[in-house]
Amino acid sequence: MTNKYESHGTPLAEYRLTRDDHRRQEEKERSTAYVRRVVDSAPPLSAEVASKLRDLLGPFPRRSPSDYMRWRVRLYCGHIQEVACLLSEPRPASEARCKECGKNPSVIVAFEPDGPFEE
Ligand SMILES: [Zn+2]
Repeated sequence: MTNKYESHGTPLAEYRLTRDDHRRQEEKERSTAYVRRVVDSAPPLSAEVASKLRDLLGPFPRRSPSDYMRWRVRLYCGHIQEVACLLSEPRPASEARCKECGKNPSVIVAFEPDGPFEE
Protein backbone atom coordinates (compact mmCIF):
# COMPACT_ATOMS: atom_id res chain seq x y z
CA MET A 1 0.00 0.00 0.00
CA THR A 2 1.38 3.42 -0.89
CA ASN A 3 1.50 6.21 1.66
CA LYS A 4 -0.84 8.43 -0.37
CA TYR A 5 -3.72 7.24 1.81
CA GLU A 6 -4.47 9.30 4.90
CA SER A 7 -5.44 8.17 8.39
CA HIS A 8 -7.16 10.17 11.11
CA GLY A 9 -8.14 9.45 14.70
CA THR A 10 -6.58 6.04 15.08
CA PRO A 11 -6.97 3.77 16.89
CA LEU A 12 -10.61 3.97 15.85
CA ALA A 13 -11.99 2.23 18.95
CA GLU A 14 -10.51 4.87 21.27
CA TYR A 15 -11.52 7.96 19.31
CA ARG A 16 -13.38 10.67 21.22
CA LEU A 17 -15.70 13.12 19.45
CA THR A 18 -14.50 16.71 19.14
CA ARG A 19 -16.42 19.98 18.97
CA ASP A 20 -15.68 20.02 15.21
CA ASP A 21 -17.24 16.53 14.82
CA HIS A 22 -20.48 17.73 16.50
CA ARG A 23 -20.52 20.81 14.25
CA ARG A 24 -19.95 18.72 11.07
CA GLN A 25 -22.74 16.29 12.06
CA GLU A 26 -25.20 19.14 12.75
CA GLU A 27 -24.38 20.78 9.39
CA LYS A 28 -24.76 17.47 7.54
CA GLU A 29 -28.12 16.73 9.20
CA ARG A 30 -29.35 20.26 8.41
CA SER A 31 -28.31 20.11 4.72
CA THR A 32 -29.71 16.58 4.31
CA ALA A 33 -33.05 17.67 5.78
CA TYR A 34 -33.14 20.65 3.41
CA VAL A 35 -32.48 18.48 0.34
CA ARG A 36 -35.17 16.01 1.45
CA ARG A 37 -37.71 18.85 1.82
CA VAL A 38 -36.87 20.20 -1.67
CA VAL A 39 -37.04 16.75 -3.29
CA ASP A 40 -40.27 15.86 -1.48
CA SER A 41 -41.95 19.11 -2.60
CA ALA A 42 -40.90 18.78 -6.26
CA PRO A 43 -43.51 17.56 -8.76
CA PRO A 44 -42.95 14.04 -10.13
CA LEU A 45 -40.87 13.83 -13.32
CA SER A 46 -42.58 12.90 -16.58
CA ALA A 47 -41.14 9.92 -18.46
CA GLU A 48 -39.81 12.33 -21.10
CA VAL A 49 -37.97 14.53 -18.58
CA ALA A 50 -36.62 11.49 -16.75
CA SER A 51 -35.28 10.14 -20.05
CA LYS A 52 -33.56 13.46 -20.85
CA LEU A 53 -31.98 13.52 -17.39
CA ARG A 54 -30.65 9.97 -17.86
CA ASP A 55 -29.12 11.03 -21.20
CA LEU A 56 -27.50 14.08 -19.62
CA LEU A 57 -26.10 12.25 -16.59
CA GLY A 58 -25.20 8.85 -17.95
CA PRO A 59 -23.86 6.42 -18.67
CA PHE A 60 -21.85 5.83 -15.54
CA PRO A 61 -18.55 4.04 -16.14
CA ARG A 62 -18.51 0.37 -15.24
CA ARG A 63 -16.05 -0.31 -12.45
CA SER A 64 -14.61 -3.47 -11.03
CA PRO A 65 -14.01 -4.19 -7.32
CA SER A 66 -10.27 -3.69 -7.92
CA ASP A 67 -10.98 0.02 -8.56
CA TYR A 68 -11.84 0.47 -4.87
CA MET A 69 -10.00 0.87 -1.59
CA ARG A 70 -11.50 -0.53 1.59
CA TRP A 71 -11.52 1.81 4.59
CA ARG A 72 -12.23 1.14 8.25
CA VAL A 73 -14.14 4.13 9.56
CA ARG A 74 -15.58 5.28 12.85
CA LEU A 75 -18.89 7.08 12.41
CA TYR A 76 -20.34 9.88 14.51
CA CYS A 77 -22.72 7.37 16.11
CA GLY A 78 -19.68 5.46 17.43
CA HIS A 79 -19.94 2.38 15.24
CA ILE A 80 -16.95 1.14 13.25
CA GLN A 81 -17.53 -0.27 9.81
CA GLU A 82 -15.98 -0.75 6.38
CA VAL A 83 -16.68 1.53 3.43
CA ALA A 84 -15.30 1.56 -0.11
CA CYS A 85 -14.00 4.52 -2.12
CA LEU A 86 -12.17 4.78 -5.41
CA LEU A 87 -8.44 4.01 -5.22
CA SER A 88 -7.71 7.50 -6.53
CA GLU A 89 -9.15 9.13 -3.39
CA PRO A 90 -6.68 9.74 -0.52
CA ARG A 91 -9.46 9.55 2.10
CA PRO A 92 -12.97 8.11 2.38
CA ALA A 93 -16.18 10.07 1.82
CA SER A 94 -17.28 12.50 4.54
CA GLU A 95 -20.30 10.50 5.75
CA ALA A 96 -22.07 7.16 5.47
CA ARG A 97 -25.28 5.45 6.52
CA CYS A 98 -24.54 3.31 9.57
CA LYS A 99 -25.25 -0.35 8.79
CA GLU A 100 -25.55 -1.10 12.51
CA CYS A 101 -27.89 1.59 13.92
CA GLY A 102 -29.20 3.12 10.67
CA LYS A 103 -28.15 6.71 11.45
CA ASN A 104 -28.12 8.54 8.11
CA PRO A 105 -26.15 10.63 7.62
CA SER A 106 -23.45 9.81 10.14
CA VAL A 107 -20.23 11.73 9.50
CA ILE A 108 -16.97 9.83 9.38
CA VAL A 109 -14.93 11.08 12.35
CA ALA A 110 -11.91 8.75 12.11
CA PHE A 111 -10.57 6.46 9.41
CA GLU A 112 -7.72 4.28 8.21
CA PRO A 113 -7.08 2.51 4.89
CA ASP A 114 -7.66 -1.24 5.00
CA GLY A 115 -6.29 -2.24 1.60
CA PRO A 116 -7.61 -2.55 -1.93
CA PHE A 117 -10.37 -4.96 -2.90
CA GLU A 118 -9.17 -8.10 -4.61
CA GLU A 119 -10.56 -9.10 -8.00
ZN1 LIG B 1 -24.32 3.54 14.13
